[in-house]
Amino acid sequence: MSAPIRIDLDAIVHNYRAFADAVPAPVIPVVKAEAYGHGGVAVAQALASMPADQRPWMLAVADAAEAYALRAAGIDLPLICWLQSSTLDWQKLRAVPDLHVGISSLHELAMLADAAPVQAGRVDRSAATQVHLKLDTGLGRNGARECEWRVLMAQALLLERQGRIRVAGIMSHVSGTSKADDAAQLDAFRRGVALAIEIGLRPDLIHLAATVAAMQYANFVDVDPAWARDDTDASAAAAGRHAADQPGYRPTFAVRLGLALYGLDPLYPDSLGLDLQPVMELRTDVVGRDDRWVMELGQADGLPPRVNRLLLNDNDGDRWQVGQIGSTHSTLLPLDGTSPSEMRCFGSHPGDVNAWAYAADTINYEITTRMMSRLRDNAPARIQPPEPGLAPQRVFTIDLDLIAARLAGGTGALHRGEQARSVEDRHLSCVIDLSANAYGFGAERIAELGRAFGKSFVARTQHDVEALAAVGIDAEYLPTAGPETRLAYGFGSGAAGAGSGTGKSGELAGSLSSELIQVKRVDAGQAVSYGYTWQATRPTTLGLVPLGYADAIPRSVFGRAMCFVNGVRVPIVGRVAMDQVVVDLGDHNCAVGMPVAIWGGRHGASLQEWCAWSGLTPAAVTATLGSRVTRRYLGGRVEGLA
Ligand SMILES: *Cc1c(COP(=O)(O)O)cnc(C)c1O
Repeated sequence: MSAPIRIDLDAIVHNYRAFADAVPAPVIPVVKAEAYGHGGVAVAQALASMPADQRPWMLAVADAAEAYALRAAGIDLPLICWLQSSTLDWQKLRAVPDLHVGISSLHELAMLADAAPVQAGRVDRSAATQVHLKLDTGLGRNGARECEWRVLMAQALLLERQGRIRVAGIMSHVSGTSKADDAAQLDAFRRGVALAIEIGLRPDLIHLAATVAAMQYANFVDVDPAWARDDTDASAAAAGRHAADQPGYRPTFAVRLGLALYGLDPLYPDSLGLDLQPVMELRTDVVGRDDRWVMELGQADGLPPRVNRLLLNDNDGDRWQVGQIGSTHSTLLPLDGTSPSEMRCFGSHPGDVNAWAYAADTINYEITTRMMSRLRDNAPARIQPPEPGLAPQRVFTIDLDLIAARLAGGTGALHRGEQARSVEDRHLSCVIDLSANAYGFGAERIAELGRAFGKSFVARTQHDVEALAAVGIDAEYLPTAGPETRLAYGFGSGAAGAGSGTGKSGELAGSLSSELIQVKRVDAGQAVSYGYTWQATRPTTLGLVPLGYADAIPRSVFGRAMCFVNGVRVPIVGRVAMDQVVVDLGDHNCAVGMPVAIWGGRHGASLQEWCAWSGLTPAAVTATLGSRVTRRYLGGRVEGLA
């Protein structure tokens, strides 16, 4: 069976052109999070290889590790990243050629300044790091609060005069809550740009709007002449800087293009009015099993845990209703014929992904972005593991010693001490299920450990068998592999009653952690994230955690999930975004860089809680970690064992 996902890179170029033709401003395509699950390098290459007069003049990603990976893959367009780790290696960031950096706080500015040498004598601006000051105009995520703008800009100007940075841009991001709220953000942004100019900065690039705002508010992309008042000479002279080389200063107003690039229309069945083409196609075979019809795709591939009345067509045009979505398989109920045929999950029609999103009560780009784990196995042009020193902390720590202890427990431990009843039982107790890249634990490491204990391997889908074979692991195709084949991971209750020999069999053999990358005090009334679904009811402190639905936190946990910051349990507030969530730190004394525990381990929520909040199966929680999450292995040395 061939890989079920196809990416149409011509459609990327088509969608870029359609959008660029409709919007009277330079367009910055956003290729963060593996290009929303489509493969970051491949999408960037498609855009970079357009004819010189048509290709975008900048690409955007979230963090510096993503930018590094694009450079390493030979992408030569200017890049921008705006989500900076507290432990970022700013020297290394500065070494990435033509990388613009979004700066959200004085702290980040100071760190960058520290890494940037003062230029003696005449300042060569091309040698300075290009900075885009990120203003929080209401979204409550990253970006500086309005009360900090003046000092941030003044400090930036000082550094600019020393030739250490160049303020190349001012940026913000819109919440899309209502026309009035968006207008308030635009007003705040105007104040910010006017202040920057008054202080003496001369950013080339001003950008606020993403796909929807760019289409909905044409005036977002008109430079308001008032922003570029022609007193620039006077104010620049007052600021004692290079006014002479910019007599007719005029910034360029750009827009950032994300979802429409991928053929996704947020307003469907109304529409942005663009002729967008679908980019991601997902097809798979329907197979009959135990008088049911199933497809070998499930939550571990990124499908949502529940869909309400979702109809799909097969290749013969027959309709099927999606039933239960399990970890690796989903059931299908035939509405017309029952002849098995290839199922078109999405991609043949622009509205397909929207149908999934509607049925799963989410947004279309969460659907494509979370398919990333499937791409992990079969898309060579995806971004490689995050470059150390550049990526924010997003770590899946795997306890190989705990896994080894369970494997050493052998048949007895795996079967509650009972004698294995049948030959098949005995067989199962000696095998490990390595589906979905060992459910995110990394098939190669788990297989290595399993071999040391004389185990053999199974996988629940044909696709997994092939992906394992490609890395030299021989796994038997066993779609019905039961929970006893997954005991080593510690997914818990699914393996009812198991584990007398190993004790903590219900405990996950891994944990997910991150860091606070920004902390800010806000007033009562401060809203957070898209749609302003949460507002502070008292003055409080907000923390920014660089994990979103592309990484680990599905949108479905909205309003429920808690995590632990420095050991204190705090709620995740506001909508989960692709790259980040906000936590309400209350009056706890918190600082940038503090550790954040999400699930597992001694400090995080239990996997069971996380499953209740997200609706995911335990196996899907670990299997769907995105490619920006690094795996860290603890222990696992089994020398001396046969
Ligand atoms: C993801 C992102 C975008 C792209 O948004 P779309 O709605 O997908 O167009 C733009 N700006 C920022 C800051 C983002 O994080």
